[in-house]
Amino acid sequence: MEHCTHTPFNLTKNQSLVMSALSRASGPLSAYTILDQLRSEGLRAPLQVYRALDKLVEYGMVHRLESMNAFVPCRHPDGESESMVAFTICESCGEVTEISNNGFDRQLHKLAGGAGFNVKKSTVELFGECSSCA
Ligand SMILES: [Zn+2]
Ligand SMILES: [Zn+2]
Repeated sequence: MEHCTHTPFNLTKNQSLVMSALSRASGPLSAYTILDQLRSEGLRAPLQVYRALDKLVEYGMVHRLESMNAFVPCRHPDGESESMVAFTICESCGEVTEISNNGFDRQLHKLAGGAGFNVKKSTVELFGECSSCA
């Protein structure tokens, strides 16, 4: 079974709108904030936003921050497939930065594999202070 992860996605109109709202934002956005921003574009129902977000997360273009119940666009320019993603979240100013890399990916797989567990994906959220606040 082989999945091609490099096909360019044909985004629907709603998905493109949600994607551009996230790209414009300086920080993570909740689904309701996105909905508010896109009302003038014709989005009315939370479900429209949730459906678009679900797909964008599935495509790896957007990450979901569980702790904040918010979404951020993936900042990996090369679009490498990432099963493990880590974020630093500053508790003072709220800055969120994506810090995943392949070594981190491998370590987590190894750690879980040692426990006989097959990890498919994970988002790690690290809380603390960013360099400007520390
Ligand atoms: Zn990413
Ligand atoms: Zn900070």
